[in-house]
Amino acid sequence: MKFERSISAYARAKNSIAGGVNSSVRAFKAVGGTPVFMKSGSGATICDIDGHEFIDYVLSWGPLILGHAHPAVVKAVQSAAARGSSFGTPTEAESELAELVCAMVPSVERVRFTSSGTEATMNAVRLARGYTRREKIVKFAGCYHGAADPFLIAAGSSALTLGVPNSPGITQATAADTIVLPYNDADALAAAFSARPNEIACVIVEPYVGNMGLVLPKPGYLQRLRELCTANGALLIFDEVMTGFRVARGGVQEREGITPDLTTLGKVIGGGLPVGAFGGRAAIMEQLTPQGPIFHAGTLSGNPLAMAAGIATLRIIRDDATLYDRLEVLSKLMAGGLAEIFTKHGVPHAVAYAGSMFGLFFAEPPITDLESAMKSDTALYAKYFHAMLDRGIYLAPSQFEAGFVSSAHTTRDIELTLAAADASLAEILERP
Ligand SMILES: *Cc1c(COP(=O)(O)O)cnc(C)c1O
Repeated sequence: MKFERSISAYARAKNSIAGGVNSSVRAFKAVGGTPVFMKSGSGATICDIDGHEFIDYVLSWGPLILGHAHPAVVKAVQSAAARGSSFGTPTEAESELAELVCAMVPSVERVRFTSSGTEATMNAVRLARGYTRREKIVKFAGCYHGAADPFLIAAGSSALTLGVPNSPGITQATAADTIVLPYNDADALAAAFSARPNEIACVIVEPYVGNMGLVLPKPGYLQRLRELCTANGALLIFDEVMTGFRVARGGVQEREGITPDLTTLGKVIGGGLPVGAFGGRAAIMEQLTPQGPIFHAGTLSGNPLAMAAGIATLRIIRDDATLYDRLEVLSKLMAGGLAEIFTKHGVPHAVAYAGSMFGLFFAEPPITDLESAMKSDTALYAKYFHAMLDRGIYLAPSQFEAGFVSSAHTTRDIELTLAAADASLAEILERP
């Protein structure tokens, strides 16, 4: 495929947008080449400005569980826009979306909307700190919680040392308040609680990790996190920005039957428009201003267009009794098919799936945490990515991302994708 228009669009973008993109991973740095500029999408398919069509497994990095330009979502946004895009006052649409969220997500009694997942996690952590009157937070290496300072912290040299900044611009003081532990290792959390009694405000976790590729919890791991938090007076925050409404109507907490104190949401909740949310037990959420002392605000929080897209999306999810079963059939077909093809070609691999998410690592299984995920052959992934792109399959431009299917994807799409994977591997292995 030739990407002439994308190449010149990228050159143009770089003259006015720093690095040519407004979110770093879009720049294809991990796979090389030029980002593909899209112009339209419909269902499972996206079209670029050079006129190519792709089956899309990125889905705007997760939000589009109903596929691109779902008619009900388009209609809801159009009619909301015609009524006025923002008022800076309460609207009934906010209550409607909030009621859908409270009904679907088991742990959420009260919710607040934000404009992004990052804002949701930032506010949830502030709330946890204000509520517990403690300062330290625990996160797990390889989990992503948005682009706010407290989360962009790398693991120190031992599990009990405090974190080091991941990026210039993050202060040592911020890093010192974040303790970074390995995922899937509950003993490491127990040790952190004993080393720092009464200091840890909250433990924030992606209960199924989708941001280092897809990594699932070992049996009993999430339950132990719940027990350790309860025993030590810390709040458990499930960051379900990616998994909420995606692996089940009520996210991982519904699938696993574990109740966090606070939950952060984003992506699917906005149906492709900018929405995040944080919620949890009423007694905690009522500590937010104006009822309580812990500050939260946002000029466009609960924006009418965003609420309209979210309501249209969540209503369909609520009313479609077999949706998640159908989605899981597709992601299982994908993961199983990929495993077969990789085995046939003798390429080490590990696959996983849950609900509408699937993952593929170019590494020996098992992949249980960041350390094992990092053993992946990223150079091979880059070749695979481009070989698939040339065959009309749009995957995430990085090994360390999950794949998504939507209700618009069909068995036929998966079969075409698996055929493309087979052909891609044959091509790559023939000319290494
Ligand atoms: C995407 C994501 C975020 C950040 O959400 P934005 O809307 O990009 O700010 C936070 N947590 C998780 C688990 C995510 O996947």
